Amino acid sequence: MGAKSAYKGLVALAAAQTASAGLLDSGIFKFFDTVTRDVVIVGGGAAGSHAAIRLKEDHGKSVVLIEREDILGGHVDTYYDPKANGAVREYGVQCYFPYEDAMDFIDRFNLTVAPGLGPRGATTPKYVDFQSGKELNGYVPPDFGAQIGGIVEFYNVLTSKGYDKMVEPGFWNLPTGPNIPEDLLLPIGEFAKKYNVSTALPRMYESTGGGPASQQDDFLNIMTLTFLQSFSPSWMKVFFTDIGYYHIEGGNQQLYNKIAARLGNDVMTNTVVLMSERTSTGVTLLVSGLKGTKIIKAKKLLMAIPPTRENLVPFDLNAEETAIFAKPKYGRYGTALVSHPSLPKGTDLMNLPASAVADPWSPFLDLPHILSFSSYGNDTDLFSIGTSGNPYLLYGQLASTGVAQVALQKMALQGTIPALKGKLIEVVEWSDHGPGGFGVTAQDMRNGWMDKMYGLQGKRSTWYTGNAIAIDFSTTLWKMNDEVIKRMLASW
Ligand SMILES: Cc1cc2nc3c(=O)[nH]c(=O)nc-3n(C[C@H](O)[C@H](O)[C@H](O)COP(=O)(O)OP(=O)(O)OC[C@H]3O[C@@H](n4cnc5c(N)ncnc54)[C@H](O)[C@@H]3O)c2cc1C
Repeated sequence: MGAKSAYKGLVALAAAQTASAGLLDSGIFKFFDTVTRDVVIVGGGAAGSHAAIRLKEDHGKSVVLIEREDILGGHVDTYYDPKANGAVREYGVQCYFPYEDAMDFIDRFNLTVAPGLGPRGATTPKYVDFQSGKELNGYVPPDFGAQIGGIVEFYNVLTSKGYDKMVEPGFWNLPTGPNIPEDLLLPIGEFAKKYNVSTALPRMYESTGGGPASQQDDFLNIMTLTFLQSFSPSWMKVFFTDIGYYHIEGGNQQLYNKIAARLGNDVMTNTVVLMSERTSTGVTLLVSGLKGTKIIKAKKLLMAIPPTRENLVPFDLNAEETAIFAKPKYGRYGTALVSHPSLPKGTDLMNLPASAVADPWSPFLDLPHILSFSSYGNDTDLFSIGTSGNPYLLYGQLASTGVAQVALQKMALQGTIPALKGKLIEVVEWSDHGPGGFGVTAQDMRNGWMDKMYGLQGKRSTWYTGNAIAIDFSTTLWKMNDEVIKRMLASW
């Protein structure tokens, strides 16, 4: 999404400094402008943007929202195609589905929601093994009805055992470590076998790219609890049409543009945190961005960024926090809009392992991979891709573009697509979708990692929300926020 912030280097600079209590109120720091608010929110994706509006408009709290990119929205990636009169091309968040009353949030911005995904022209699939570049002649997709039937059965297992209540919207009701049902700690492949719901997996895999959490391991090895973050019980209901799904007319980004407008000067985009001092009575942050370097003083801090070790460098972690955040292992997910003259307009090139011809029920790919080159229709040369790889720091735009380029070269060599004629893939926009999922092991969970993580809520005036510690969909995150905000207000 958008241009990347120019301030990443400053984070490293801040890391070199050791904050000590009161430092930000002394020395040269005291000459910076001070912004005073009830709550400072870091991260302007679905979670942080929603929280800012709810706190400000519904709970009368003064807020400031810090976002490192130049626009709000996080994983929302709407491209307005200049070659097609600004036509909307969604290549990140595609849709919103009802979770409790969460869709009401969109209503307050006077936007029109329409059923289905965002606009895309008609396309036909072509199944290709990107490893060899060969088209998979003879591949027949698994029976659609059996896949949906599997999702229904999967959902029934979760609800009959009460697992849905333990995971949505956040993990507040998850039993403590040793009491977490072992089912939820099984690898997803074993869980599906145990309950005879394996026919659900291909559709679940395809619709989420294996789930952002699959960057950590082979798909079938992902812990069920982690998998449910990106394929939640409420999202399952969409597949058997119990509930609908909707996009915002004019682009999903419209919501976040309206939020930014409503927040006005309470948003600081292109801004990062350089240092922090957090105590039980409030927080002080040193932030820097296009509007200059400022001190922010607030009673509460809401962290709405993925709590990766890289993101947490500027925060004055204590030993307890350091131990908790040292545990997760994460890969990286990215989406992009790409084009190349050899990519066939109107065709979706779907990546499958060669073995899928013999076993279409096992379409799972090794890492790193590009899941597909998905066309926006016959009248545009734009394609979207979703890509997973690890480790986190190495699998950024450069590495994933390399994987896409190699896939194109192999397809061209095999005659699956026309010759590339020396032309490289053009990345029109690339969007970092970060780690996704909390990324800890089943043993960490049994040892109480989630209890400790949720136990941090409110300590040192700091609260946590976002997709790393809850179900990873916009509407569920908004309900997760409502719970966090309720608890935050109770602690005032
Ligand atoms: C490919 C893909 C498609 C998806 N499609 C859908 C969908 O159709 N519908 C749906 O509901 N959900 C979808 N999701 C899930 C989606 O991730 C969540 O719904 C939601 O967008 C996550 O919101 P968040 O606020 O937790 O995180 P993010 O959206 O990642 O927001 C975090 C924000 O913090 C900012 N940030 C990060 N680090 C810093 C820092 N150090 N300082 C300041 N700011 C920082 C980021 O720039 C970002 O704006 C999809 C996810 C993926 C990966």
